[in-house]
Amino acid sequence: NHPLNPEKPLYPEFRPLLERLDEQNQDKELAAKSRQEFSANVSHELKTPLTSISGYAEIIRDGLVQPEDIPGFADRIHQESSRLLALIGDIMELSRLDESGLPPDATDVDIFDICKDVVSRLQPRAMEFFVALSLSGTHATTRGVSVLLHEMVYNLVDNAVKYNKEGGHVKVWAGRTLDHPQIRVEDDGIGISLEDQERVFERFYRVDKSHSKETGGTGLGLSIVKHTAILHHAEITVNSEVGVGTRIDVTFPT
Ligand code: ADP
Repeated sequence: NHPLNPEKPLYPEFRPLLERLDEQNQDKELAAKSRQEFSANVSHELKTPLTSISGYAEIIRDGLVQPEDIPGFADRIHQESSRLLALIGDIMELSRLDESGLPPDATDVDIFDICKDVVSRLQPRAMEFFVALSLSGTHATTRGVSVLLHEMVYNLVDNAVKYNKEGGHVKVWAGRTLDHPQIRVEDDGIGISLEDQERVFERFYRVDKSHSKETGGTGLGLSIVKHTAILHHAEITVNSEVGVGTRIDVTFPT
């Protein structure tokens, strides 16, 4: 039976992820350890930008910065503050997802329309990275929460754009595969090694911390994707090869 919704029959093809989750849920010690690790990570991630902000403010206050250098320092304070805001937003989103089951106000959501919205929202960002972003597919509906699914697709497409190269492509597809509503986000970017593929869904895990910082990543995007998929009883599959690209499929129940 499904760990989150015992009434719901389990689709055989959804078993692997759900079994893993069951194991995680049963292992209380592991859960406590992962909570502890999460708090330690949160503190560290929040402390780093705050330490910089406080340091910059201090040296400006003490008159240690030449007047012409002040705009540059203000810019760094602004960047570090934006990073803090992004982090806090993602942490709040995650704790909300942790607490809630799929709300009773779930509706029939058209996943193609969601992808269309996300693609048009991210078009300027794709241009900024010199990446061609396109959409194809057909209308298909699933039971779900529109804003959460929107956030999930946004994170996947944003990653496909960010972890790409100049002249790269991102193809978003929505439709049905073997009667399952499905969303696919495919890029020909930097790819993810086999050993990192499992780990990228962990909170704060980033393959290349410096690159991720440059692109404004928090390391929480794929955790949000995973939690949203779980809430919707959806399965995520990753196909990726370093230097070739990444394809992520999200498959919903029929
Ligand atoms: P971030 O905020 O750092 O983007 P995510 O949780 O969204 O965090 O992703 C975790 C890590 O997985 C990223 O830092 C990146 O290293 C890797 N990653 C995610 N999506 C892709 C992709 N499409 N191509 C290559 N690497 C990716």
